Amino acid sequence: MSDIDVKYAALGGSAGWLGPATTAELVAPDGIGHYRHYRSGSIYWSPSSGAHEVHGAIRGKWASLGWERSFLGYPLTDETTTPDGVGRYNHFQGGSVYWTPATGAHEVHGAIRGKWASMGWERSFLGYPTSDELSTEDSTGRYSEFQHGSIYWSPGTGALACRETVRLHVKCLTAPTRFSINQMISNMRLTYATAQVGVKYASFELLNLPALNDVDVGACTMGTVTAEQTQLFANRNSAGANDVVVYFVRSTQPPFNGCASFPANRPGAVVASGASAWTMAHEVGHVLGLSHVSDNNRLMTGLGTDNITNPPPDIIASESASMLASSFTN
Ligand SMILES: [Zn+2]
Repeated sequence: MSDIDVKYAALGGSAGWLGPATTAELVAPDGIGHYRHYRSGSIYWSPSSGAHEVHGAIRGKWASLGWERSFLGYPLTDETTTPDGVGRYNHFQGGSVYWTPATGAHEVHGAIRGKWASMGWERSFLGYPTSDELSTEDSTGRYSEFQHGSIYWSPGTGALACRETVRLHVKCLTAPTRFSINQMISNMRLTYATAQVGVKYASFELLNLPALNDVDVGACTMGTVTAEQTQLFANRNSAGANDVVVYFVRSTQPPFNGCASFPANRPGAVVASGASAWTMAHEVGHVLGLSHVSDNNRLMTGLGTDNITNPPPDIIASESASMLASSFTN
């Protein structure tokens, strides 16, 4: 009997839940291992991993990634119930796939998986993954979303757990000229992750509002808005009540890099086309309750974000606490 036959027999053979075989035992496409498909799942074997069954939605995720030739490699476990009793998982050579009825099946791997494991897996405050590992918009970082937060990773920061999320919508009248929107969002992910705040980039929309493209922001005082800001911020469209909307405009009048004063119940900010790489993160910082400081090491410098001296700029602990307490993170 092959190792696959031994595993199959241990699971009850043709009378067990796997049901009858639908293929012979075959050499896997990578030329290293063997597999056999059954009516309700598969058994995969390789010399280094042994023989393990994989089935259902977890098998579906693994298949969608490319089976044993994906970064996951071969299964190291059968499908197993999680310690919290809610979900199921298979560990693989290169990561894991976790499934629950509420979240579906998602892979988690590498340093992000290591961070999640160190926190206690699904029993941590994060809960289960709700995404596969994703790339930041500028491809310099990675992140996985979970039920109650996210884990961000970049070469400079390592893996950071985020316990709250700001849901961000971009509405573009004029695209920025010095740094792309994707660059600004990626920078925001980077600096916010150090404050335990994740970023969900929920939507992008082009707006054709030429009369508001050089928007009058008055003195840009929090809690006070002009008629033009009121008109502009009425365009929330798909955004939820506590979501933050950033409007990219050609300019503000008078000229600022951005302005974070917003009408009641319409959280958001404007960012001008000449903005710095950190303007968006800075303005949303104001929306989340942060005030200016006189320190160019920090995101909330009031001396101009072009003058930030140590990218990524710092968000200090008390600022992180304010952001986590904001009604615009959850
Ligand atoms: Zn400011």
